[in-house]
Amino acid sequence: MKRKTISCAVLSLLLAFAALSSGCASSTAPAVSPSAISATAGNAAQDVQNNLYQRFSRTDLSAFDTVITLVGFAQSQADFDQAANEAFERIRSLDHIFDAYNAYDDLNNLYYLNLHGAEGPVEVPEDLFQLIAWCKSQWENGLRETNIAMGAVLSIWHEYRTEGIQHPESAQLPPMEALLNASEHIDFENVVLDSEKQTVFYSDPDLTLDIGAVAKGYAADEVAALLYQRMPSFLLSLGGNVYAGNAPMDGRANWAVGVQDPDTSNSGTKDILDVHDKTVVTSGDYWRYYVVDGQRYHHIIDPETLMPSTKMISVTIVCDSSILADFLSTTLFVLPYEAGRAVAERLDGVEVMWILPDGTIEATDGMKDYARSFRKT
Ligand code: AMP
Ligand code: MG
Repeated sequence: MKRKTISCAVLSLLLAFAALSSGCASSTAPAVSPSAISATAGNAAQDVQNNLYQRFSRTDLSAFDTVITLVGFAQSQADFDQAANEAFERIRSLDHIFDAYNAYDDLNNLYYLNLHGAEGPVEVPEDLFQLIAWCKSQWENGLRETNIAMGAVLSIWHEYRTEGIQHPESAQLPPMEALLNASEHIDFENVVLDSEKQTVFYSDPDLTLDIGAVAKGYAADEVAALLYQRMPSFLLSLGGNVYAGNAPMDGRANWAVGVQDPDTSNSGTKDILDVHDKTVVTSGDYWRYYVVDGQRYHHIIDPETLMPSTKMISVTIVCDSSILADFLSTTLFVLPYEAGRAVAERLDGVEVMWILPDGTIEATDGMKDYARSFRKT
């Protein structure tokens, strides 16, 4: 049975999200592009003045093991409900397809694929195929720090972490020998894809996929595309993945998205990003972890060392594609700062904020336009 393990970090992010999404305008925010709103919602300023649009929100705990919140501006509760129902239906459908722990009738989901992928090619739903193919293309292009074919290694960590959270007094680290043996079975080359038949075959019987690093990003893109059709002024939060649609229709130029303070005892925000029509994704060492001998061991594993990566505290990405942001947040969390910066500079429209172990904050130039702490200086 899948365990629901919504962490304190997620809950405090939700609180920050709720506070920020209803917060006041940033005086330093860049002006919203008028076309962004008028293309879909008429004269926004006029509509706001006439109170045609109101703010609604819904929170849901039933998918992706996380807190999902949708805020949107609609003309009526009924209009909001219609858009929100469609959005949450799509999220739940993707949650079943990407579920690694449960079987569903007549669905060749990730759980099914991991069980049967080595017996012969398995035809999978289009969403799962697209996600795997996209990750494989990144791997073929040389970005290999986020390797979703690393299921054999990640499942060992998952088992020890789950055990360690339930029984902290006897928490242990996985034996390095077991990790090394598993690391013989993480070669993405052995995930054979046939795009015509939409099949996936594991040519290594001990290989499994773990798509935790990108699944929420894929889902956020899909739901955002749907919301742009139905309710374009929206803010969607799927745990650490946020997608901000057209500017809020209450006169503000941007949505305010919090970057969580890694010191979770603060349960506050380290910075605030003012964005619209962008996704904001954070990978951090505070989301999921357990403690062994007073030391924290989190959930992002460096494929080189097979241990939790210690180079970053958190990495936040802002760009247009949530799957790319999710993939990069994990990748740049594992890469040393200089190497990560080089990757970011190569990519158009990708902005990054790094929080390093000594508390130093680094950011790409474009990130400084979004982040309030940089705009103040
Ligand atoms: P994120 O929070 O987006 O950085 O994703 C973390 C999740 O991705 C973990 O809970 C694992 O399921 C998975 N994961 C951890 N390390 C890696 C890695 N190096 N490559 C691919 N997936 C990973
Ligand atoms: Mg990620």
